[in-house]
Amino acid sequence: MVSVAPPPGSYDIETDVVVVGAGACGLTTGLRALESGAEVIVLERDSRPTGSTAMSSGFIPAPGTRFQRAIGVVETPENFAADVQKKAAGKADPAIVKCVTEQIGPALEWLADAHGLEWQVLGDFLYPGHTRHRMHAVPEKTGAALMARLMHAAEAAGLTVVTDARVTTLHVAEGEYITGVTLTRPDGATESIGCKAVVLACNGYGGNSQLVAENIPEIAGAPYFGHPGNTGDAVLWGRALGAAMKNLSAYQGHGSLAHPHGILITWALMMEGGIQVNAEGRRFSNEHGGYSEQAVKVLAQPGGIAWNIYDDRLHGIGMEFPDYREAVATGAIRSGSDAAALASVIGLRANALEDTLAQVLAFSAGTESDPFGRDFTDKPMLSGRLRAVKVTGALFHTQGGLVVDAGARVLRPDGTPLPNLYAGGGGACGVSGASVEGYLSGNGLLTAVALGFVAGATAAIRSGEQRI
Ligand SMILES: Cc1cc2nc3c(=O)[nH]c(=O)nc-3n(C[C@H](O)[C@H](O)[C@H](O)COP(=O)(O)OP(=O)(O)OC[C@H]3O[C@@H](n4cnc5c(N)ncnc54)[C@H](O)[C@@H]3O)c2cc1C
Repeated sequence: MVSVAPPPGSYDIETDVVVVGAGACGLTTGLRALESGAEVIVLERDSRPTGSTAMSSGFIPAPGTRFQRAIGVVETPENFAADVQKKAAGKADPAIVKCVTEQIGPALEWLADAHGLEWQVLGDFLYPGHTRHRMHAVPEKTGAALMARLMHAAEAAGLTVVTDARVTTLHVAEGEYITGVTLTRPDGATESIGCKAVVLACNGYGGNSQLVAENIPEIAGAPYFGHPGNTGDAVLWGRALGAAMKNLSAYQGHGSLAHPHGILITWALMMEGGIQVNAEGRRFSNEHGGYSEQAVKVLAQPGGIAWNIYDDRLHGIGMEFPDYREAVATGAIRSGSDAAALASVIGLRANALEDTLAQVLAFSAGTESDPFGRDFTDKPMLSGRLRAVKVTGALFHTQGGLVVDAGARVLRPDGTPLPNLYAGGGGACGVSGASVEGYLSGNGLLTAVALGFVAGATAAIRSGEQRI
């Protein structure tokens, strides 16, 4: 349990900026604050920093970078912002949307130029709601590699990252000014650090089943597939400090988690022509709506599961993704020479699956239209040998949280900032509106890296003002 308490008589050590959490947000914040002249300590509860960042695909959307231009795509932050707002049904804070869509490109170029991260833009498929190819990934295309590269950059820059250090208390003077933190070691020992600014980069509350049940009952019974250490500490401190909080019902779900293997099956399979059927062999949705909201739709099916159905061409696309290759290696991917053979392998009624596939072929040929409204005519028809993987819906991370301004400063309900508290990533309210439908693919790392980039600079400036 975390708490807010008055300052102790003295602190064990002092620094300028304390960053809570060493995921993508915390490491970006730390690197930027260090470069901006502050003394920084990043505190991480785990013995090795991984966070949800290392579990993710590591795809970060950004407009107008030289990496995007290198594959011939020209894009402005305004275009990206329009996609974000369209998915969020116009319910994302325009100031934060503007901030993150403008800052993320410079942030990725800075991570490349100052810290040696390499970016490639995925140019072969578009996620739902993306009008341009803008997903940046490190060459390995995994969140684990992204974290490894950020940690390497942290080491090279001399950033202090202290592990096995769960921040349990924020020390607050006059009800609003954070003078330092207490951290608790795994053996229960405590240490205190005085500081001039604190950045909460400790993600959301997906790992706190009570907060999930309170705020997002629709996903409370589903598997949580994010980092278990993300137990909502930022939200709990925000409550205790009387900070403004918003959109706590928003989250990133996913409707394609291999079951029971617990491996993410890329949504590229759906975007490029695959379908989802339920245990009765019937489609139940437009698979191009978005993988986030698909979590709820899959969970509503008999047994809370669906089968992703696709062909060998799409299997080839899947093999470009490390997660998918892992699913193949574990035997999660089944196959059959045609619909009847596949149905018998996966235990569906042959007639039902054959009927569904015949309908899909008619949608692809343009002779019938899909009652769920999906356009099948722009991708090749499913053909030849068929593949299937059983999936379920899951909660990946929460998107609501502390309301921040474009300087990543945590705000009070009246819109004024707390003097020296900052937040980014899953700890801050994101840009996905108030519900699962509002999550545009990439919104998670977008706010982790862009707000971390901003928070590092503003927290360093704030601590500098106090040094003078
Ligand atoms: C399977 C999966 C795939 C995803 N794929 C993508 C993707 O491709 N693109 C995308 O944009 N998003 C993706 N996401 C979402 C993305 O992973 C998160 O939005 C992002 O990693 C958040 O970064 P963060 O730094 O805020 O949090 P994290 O990376 O989770 O880091 C938070 C850190 O804070 C630590 N911490 C928590 N509390 C404390 C405390 N009190 N004291 C000290 N440390 C603490 C945690 O241990 C953790 O290391 C995916 C998520 C999942 C689960």
